[in-house]
Amino acid sequence: MRFAERVSQLPPYLFAELERKIAEKREAGVDVISLGIGDPDLPTFPAVVEEAQRQVALPDTHRYPSNRGRTAFREAVAAFYDRRFGVGLDPETEVLPLLGGKEGVAHVCWSMLDPGDVCLAADPGYPVYTSGPLLAGAEPVLMPLTAEHAFQPDLEGIAAGVRSRANLLFCNYPNNPTGAVIEDDFFERLARFGLDNDIPIVHDNAYSEITFDGYVAGSFLEAPGAKEAGIEMFSLSKSWNMTGWRVGAAVGNAGMIDQLWKLKTNIDSGLFDAVQMASIRALADGRGFVAEMCDTYRRRRDLLVEALAAVGIDVPAPRGTIYVWVPVPAGHTSVSFAELVLEQAGVVVSPGSSYGPNGEGYVRMSLTLPDDRLREAVSRIEQHLRVG
Ligand SMILES: *Cc1c(COP(=O)(O)O)cnc(C)c1O
Repeated sequence: MRFAERVSQLPPYLFAELERKIAEKREAGVDVISLGIGDPDLPTFPAVVEEAQRQVALPDTHRYPSNRGRTAFREAVAAFYDRRFGVGLDPETEVLPLLGGKEGVAHVCWSMLDPGDVCLAADPGYPVYTSGPLLAGAEPVLMPLTAEHAFQPDLEGIAAGVRSRANLLFCNYPNNPTGAVIEDDFFERLARFGLDNDIPIVHDNAYSEITFDGYVAGSFLEAPGAKEAGIEMFSLSKSWNMTGWRVGAAVGNAGMIDQLWKLKTNIDSGLFDAVQMASIRALADGRGFVAEMCDTYRRRRDLLVEALAAVGIDVPAPRGTIYVWVPVPAGHTSVSFAELVLEQAGVVVSPGSSYGPNGEGYVRMSLTLPDDRLREAVSRIEQHLRVG
């Protein structure tokens, strides 16, 4: 049997070796604690679950949903963007439901990129920023994110020959995996860069509601010209504890939205209407729950940052996301440090190198663990981890 090159060419899964070691440890009876995955452990807010239960019982949600989404869903997303970011969206032409942000990121590659095109992708970054372009026959070109540049890409430094071939750019703030947030005019510069170079921008807004210490994240669409420059992939997964529901929305540039809709009519048949209706509840009155959730993550973040400091690893406390991006001690690579933490503390962390070459030298630790398990992980790190 012959398999398609477009799939065979995808880079190998870098967690494979770590996974083998985890399985080995578990077999040997070690109670392994995973800080490796970014999937909220807290349940979806009760009001959203109740609305979903009510909607599932209504026969009019049982048929094919419209690919455009329900009017009420599109209006709820637009109302949220208006209230939360001061961004006006036309619910008819500037909002499209997605089966999660990941689906949007993968499919916008198909609606925007031709073979031979370049896609600019943040490095370290969400793996689909590079696998998406590869699947579309395009070439991902990495934009390094480094601590010296506040984990922002150096837009001015992108070569003319790359700019002229690029027809898409992916980045996301608050940032996975680095936890970086935007505190300057980056979104303005990003929109200007997209317009000046005719490169459509995709800002992947997966974490805007998860911030701490008084920081409030903005939307890319707040920047002047942003709606001419591109779109934002908005997701309820992380900010409303709804990863399993598969719900998000593409918002912004009407042309890009229309093209994505055209593509999607050939691939999926829309987002379950009951999920759309429940999501309206989340967007309309989830504020109190979101605030409570942020408190939980902040408490966990502080626990973890203090434990790392106690073993001699100083990490600035991130002001957003569900991750702590931890520089590995001297003499270690991302993978060797991940192995040391597993070996000595029985704790799983993600090697930064699995998010791109510029993730080398870091590991990502996730805060999506019940407090008692995180406390246990933290106390093991404090007691057993010898980084000297
Ligand atoms: C989690 C995550 C997503 C995927 O979100 P879904 O809406 O669940 O598909 C997209 N981008 C980034 C950066 C993420 O961390």
